[in-house]
Amino acid sequence: MTAHHSKHYVTERTAREQIAQVAREIYTRKLSGATDGNISVRIGNERIATTPSGVHKGRLTADQVMVVNLQGEVIGRPAKRADGTPLRPSSELALHLEAYRRRPDVGAVIHAHPPNAIAFTLAGGQLSQTLVSEVVFACGQIATAPYTTPTTNQVPEIIGEYMRCYDVVMMLRHGSVTLGGDLDSALAKLDALEHTAGIYCMVKLLGGATPIADPEVAKLFALAHSQTPLYRIAGEHCPAPEPPLALRDGKRAVGEVSGAVSGDGALIDAVMRQLGSKS
Ligand SMILES: [Zn+2]
Repeated sequence: MTAHHSKHYVTERTAREQIAQVAREIYTRKLSGATDGNISVRIGNERIATTPSGVHKGRLTADQVMVVNLQGEVIGRPAKRADGTPLRPSSELALHLEAYRRRPDVGAVIHAHPPNAIAFTLAGGQLSQTLVSEVVFACGQIATAPYTTPTTNQVPEIIGEYMRCYDVVMMLRHGSVTLGGDLDSALAKLDALEHTAGIYCMVKLLGGATPIADPEVAKLFALAHSQTPLYRIAGEHCPAPEPPLALRDGKRAVGEVSGAVSGDGALIDAVMRQLGSKS
């Protein structure tokens, strides 16, 4: 089992180089702001390479990439800024660790702030709708999770339930999480998500479109699933790919949602119930 899994792990040096390269690409292509988002790659059963917090993604070097264990503790050589102060792992590290804990098949995680996907979901759009065929092969089912306060335990707890079931998850009013067997795969999903969301935004502006008919969608998912086991189809024990309407309709609920989710216990309870959480 261990030997089988270790075959998929890249070396620490390769992971450092891949992360620096993908960070530059994400920044250059405006899939995140300069210091936004974070990237990680699994390099062993207990070791993860990840971006440091607060470093410009366009200028990240391989040496600045950090190595942590599955508890999030920094291991190995401590990375430092140009002025000598130590770097800390990314602020959403818990989200990445939760993905690896829940998904042994996942070798890389990207959290980004793709603008089209964020705008479309904010405007109440449903990315789980299948308007174009290829997105099914690239992403599987795209899920949108309710808002959670960034950097808090809410993020891994609530988003974790979605990552268990979906490779591509939008976090409302925040950004995306894409999971892949390797970093190229996680990046390809981010790319497909943002490209598709750009089309969906245009469709919304042009007055809407009819989704692909259900039997054809079912064929697409079956075909995608037969090509790679990574493409998951949400089952009975998975959260629905779209949050309840009250949390989704940005036009009506701008004030309500942000206030309610951070302070209203009843609404959080409702969300947790919907996610089937026991806590
Ligand atoms: Zn973020």
